[in-house]
Amino acid sequence: MSNQENIISIVGAGVSGIICALTLANFHLGSKKTIRVFEHKRRVGGRAHAIKIQEQFIDLGAGRFSPQLHKNINELVAHFNIENESFPFTQLTRPQELHSQLKEILNKLKPMCDEHKDDSFINFLTAYLGEDQSKDIINALGYDSLALPFITPNIAYDIIEKHPEIQGFSDNAGYTWRNLKEGFCTLPQILYDRAVELGVEFHFDYELITIDNHEKTPALTLKTSNDDIVRITQGDMIVTLPPTAMSRLNCNFPQDWTHYTYGSIPLFKGFLFYEKPWWQDLSLTDHVIITNNPIRKLYFKDNRYIFFYTDSDFANYWQETSQHGEAHYLKTIKEFMADAIQCDVDHIPDPIEHTHKYWIHGVEFSKECSPTHPLSFVHKKSKIISASDAYTPHCGWMEGGVMAGKSAALKLLKRLEAEEESQTDNHK
Ligand SMILES: Cc1cc2nc3c(=O)[nH]c(=O)nc-3n(C[C@H](O)[C@H](O)[C@H](O)COP(=O)(O)OP(=O)(O)OC[C@H]3O[C@@H](n4cnc5c(N)ncnc54)[C@H](O)[C@@H]3O)c2cc1C
Repeated sequence: MSNQENIISIVGAGVSGIICALTLANFHLGSKKTIRVFEHKRRVGGRAHAIKIQEQFIDLGAGRFSPQLHKNINELVAHFNIENESFPFTQLTRPQELHSQLKEILNKLKPMCDEHKDDSFINFLTAYLGEDQSKDIINALGYDSLALPFITPNIAYDIIEKHPEIQGFSDNAGYTWRNLKEGFCTLPQILYDRAVELGVEFHFDYELITIDNHEKTPALTLKTSNDDIVRITQGDMIVTLPPTAMSRLNCNFPQDWTHYTYGSIPLFKGFLFYEKPWWQDLSLTDHVIITNNPIRKLYFKDNRYIFFYTDSDFANYWQETSQHGEAHYLKTIKEFMADAIQCDVDHIPDPIEHTHKYWIHGVEFSKECSPTHPLSFVHKKSKIISASDAYTPHCGWMEGGVMAGKSAALKLLKRLEAEEESQTDNHK
């Protein structure tokens, strides 16, 4: 690792880090500089992670995008010709009573959001509709983060408008959604292959453990699983980690970096595979149900499998339930599934295989959720650049990762251009 000045070190090989590396390499920086990416895991993609079960690719993390909302992702998918298919879960089946009035209720209240911009969504609803109906509304929307105290009315409306299952209660009802046939991680994988072709070096199994933000001697310290330590003290440095990972690096994040503050929400996805698609006879194929019980959102993916998806307290609930043993976990699912589709529990067969994934920091976001939040920022002293989907208006979405990664690369390119100009001026 010689001539470190000509090295750009990027940490994180999620979509933000790979896009950042690729954007730099596309500017032919690869011929002048060595671009290296360090990643803690032994794979790329971060929170976009698919596995294959029963010959099916399933998205344990990121799973869908909307061409109308996620323009960068849509362009990349088209550009690399990645096989994709409809993510059909925009129509609720077996609606709760409240669902028929929900759009009207939400539309009526929307103009009042700005008057309550510092209130929580739940208090906002309570002020107009009373406590009971407010709870019913959150319940009917299926995303429990909507009840968290830092979710303001504006953020809540944004969440409702930008999620397929509940966009029907907003003016975005007609938006379409897609998923990638072999999993969302196909996208970071293809971007990685392209970056390698352009000369970007990837180093897996390197965990960033500290960032030293000294003005003259900034440094990144990384550790391998064999406890080898690598210290990077020269060249340009970009860290594309989510806020919770940044806050573990002994670098006084976020206080020394930005005046924004950050939060995260846990997510849990459970997948069940059956010998036969028994739900077809119940006309549930490709439908989603928002349940009144801890399953919350139950999806019937054509004739392939069933999955459920929860956030906040119910994500923790399922994580705890899964820790009480497989039999207890599967029995609990079966009971709640029977309740959701209103059938006898004995009518639901046992799955032949199942899997689940709990993401303790599934969604990361800025609590202020301000449109003026920079997509990436530079530490004032060390000049280390930080980028994350959490900084963007598309926090919690791959789109945000692309925006942040590009922004970090463009910031560095601008700096390098300015340095080159000043060197040319000095030589005149
Ligand atoms: C359950 C779930 C469902 C989701 N659903 C969707 C969806 O349907 N559509 C969508 O668009 N988005 C979805 N997302 C969000 C999407 O996955 C993220 O927005 C996106 O992955 C963010 O990319 P990133 O590169 O910024 O961060 P990450 O994907 O988190 O990547 C960060 C990378 O940094 C690495 N890293 C962390 N700490 C260190 C360290 N100390 N040293 C070295 N490396 C480190 C990690 O291993 C990881 O590879 C979902 C996420 C989850 C968890």
